[in-house]
Amino acid sequence: MVYNFSAGPAVLPKEVLQQAADEMLDWHGSGMSVMEMSHRGKEYMSIIEAALRDMRELFAVPSNYKILFLQGGAIAENAIIPMNLAALRGKPGVADYVNTGSWSAKSIKEARRYCEVNVAATSEAEKFASIPARASWKLSRNAAYVHLCTNETIDGVEYQFTPDVAADTDNAPIVADMSSHILSRAVDVSKYGVIYGGAQKNIGPAGLTIVIVREDLLGHALPICPSAFDWKIVADNDSMYNTPPTYAIYIAGLVFQWLKRQGGVAEMERRNIAKADLLYNYLDSTEFYKTRIAKECRSRMNAPFFLHDEALNETFLTGAKERGLLQLKGHKSVGGMRASIYNAMPIEGVEALVGYLRDFEQTHG
Ligand SMILES: *Cc1c(COP(=O)(O)O)cnc(C)c1O
Repeated sequence: MVYNFSAGPAVLPKEVLQQAADEMLDWHGSGMSVMEMSHRGKEYMSIIEAALRDMRELFAVPSNYKILFLQGGAIAENAIIPMNLAALRGKPGVADYVNTGSWSAKSIKEARRYCEVNVAATSEAEKFASIPARASWKLSRNAAYVHLCTNETIDGVEYQFTPDVAADTDNAPIVADMSSHILSRAVDVSKYGVIYGGAQKNIGPAGLTIVIVREDLLGHALPICPSAFDWKIVADNDSMYNTPPTYAIYIAGLVFQWLKRQGGVAEMERRNIAKADLLYNYLDSTEFYKTRIAKECRSRMNAPFFLHDEALNETFLTGAKERGLLQLKGHKSVGGMRASIYNAMPIEGVEALVGYLRDFEQTHG
């Protein structure tokens, strides 16, 4: 028995992996593996249509939004977003970005290649320990869009609110990188223009990128935008302008069915709160471990933490592995440890981790 705390690619529900194994050689009597099917055949069409339907239902995506299945990950979207939206108000204009950690910093750097970027707020000076208060943001009156990373996977900060930017920006759409917490909590999609993310954190395997885009934001791509990344072309072709990542979509579809059986996003949110509380409450109860993130900004999905004595790091990780607690090493830019506790991590995994934290402290404290 192991528990995998990887930040991504990350743990998937056992039931989903078992079902994929059972269906590997012969999907539903078709005689084919899903990997071998034409993406336009009726078998595969039924798979992708069910995945789109279930995603829309689970995430309560309104009917005036398209759900696109793309490739290239969130990092490719960092370029694809300005290529699709920078000219929303005519010629390429200014885009506002809020810098809350490694991933938003990457988005900013890439966007600068395509448009003017205004960093409306940044928590860099305090090492990304919190999210800048909305009142401090210096937004642009004519911003094409406002970009946020709503869960910083590496730094461990998560928005617990949806900022209101309409009045200050003359109704600029919010574009949110939700790679590492999509489907972990209820979101009012109508407050966003675009929600995007790679699937490999909280949904499925790497190779699938999900983009949820309000219909009026389609059709503004810059001439330099590759056709395969022009959201309007992709939408008009039902995510089949080029061959979609068929197997990754199939697994994501199985995860969506699993989520529905568990009780959907509301139930996931309840469990995710319970898991995060269990972990953070323990970390707060002792001086042996430290956290750096302001309490009200802590991520429910990715919890970086540090041993009081960093010389014990290797011993800690070796002992964790012996207990089947895998991939707890922190990101190299932050150091220490990081426990990613996505939807597919059961509470028993967090209990096992807290048990280990306690035992390790008793032995080495
Ligand atoms: C992992 C991650 C990315 C990068 O995703 P790729 O699939 O490697 O492009 C971007 N943003 C966030 C928030 C992430 O967690």
